Amino acid sequence: MKYCSFQTEAGPQYGEVVDRGGILWIERLLPPFEEDPWTKFSARPFKPLPLSKVHVLAPVAPRKIVCIGRNYRDHAAELGNEVPKEPLLFLKAPSSVIGPGDEIHIPLQSQRVDFEGELAVVIGRMATHIGSDEEVTPYIRGYTIVNDVTARDLQKSDGQWSRAKGFDTFCPMGPLVTDEIDPWAGIVVETRLNGEVKQHGNTRDLIFPIDALLRYITAAMTLLPGDVIPTGTPAGVAPMQTGDHVEVSIQGIGTLANRILDGSARI
Ligand code: ZN
Repeated sequence: MKYCSFQTEAGPQYGEVVDRGGILWIERLLPPFEEDPWTKFSARPFKPLPLSKVHVLAPVAPRKIVCIGRNYRDHAAELGNEVPKEPLLFLKAPSSVIGPGDEIHIPLQSQRVDFEGELAVVIGRMATHIGSDEEVTPYIRGYTIVNDVTARDLQKSDGQWSRAKGFDTFCPMGPLVTDEIDPWAGIVVETRLNGEVKQHGNTRDLIFPIDALLRYITAAMTLLPGDVIPTGTPAGVAPMQTGDHVEVSIQGIGTLANRILDGSARI
């Protein structure tokens, strides 16, 4: 199933998305997910709508975002880092989430803000200590796109990454969650800046595949429904400037597009 969150007169709602002859439609409303206390289910009758006609919101309200650093060989190399022997985990602030079409704000504190296009896992069921012979897919609600926006200069100077990865607006997410793709089989992750292709990776090249990541994470911390796990970025990260337009596309999910604004223009 594919679903999105979108704005209606009755506030944000979740909707099931179906492909009708190559056009995506919101077919019916879905009850809110347990991690999201803000969305109130509308009992009003609903007429199907083309996805292109609605204001799409971030599809998940995560309680935590567990990211993976350096999970593609070519990206580790481009920043002069060794390939890690174990997954490198860090947390991204849930308050940094924005939706498709929202603006990424460049903070005054940073001179270099990079995009990182990533496939992200959305957890569907509480998961703790997933066993080595246990299937991980029952814990996965689906997959979405995350742009793991990073203040690269502060990431280096701070010595750890909470601020550099956690500024407000630094986690664009969406437009959909789908369980109809298979990252193990290889899914293309492409990032374009002002229309120019900058990143073109494939999830086949993940150093630690998703099953290994979920086992590693749940050996340390319990994953809850709605938790989001961006799986790392391929090579080609680069800075964004005010006025730029960044798009991350993943086969089977769609395109996450955002514009860049100067933080001082923020209201
Ligand atoms: Zn990243």
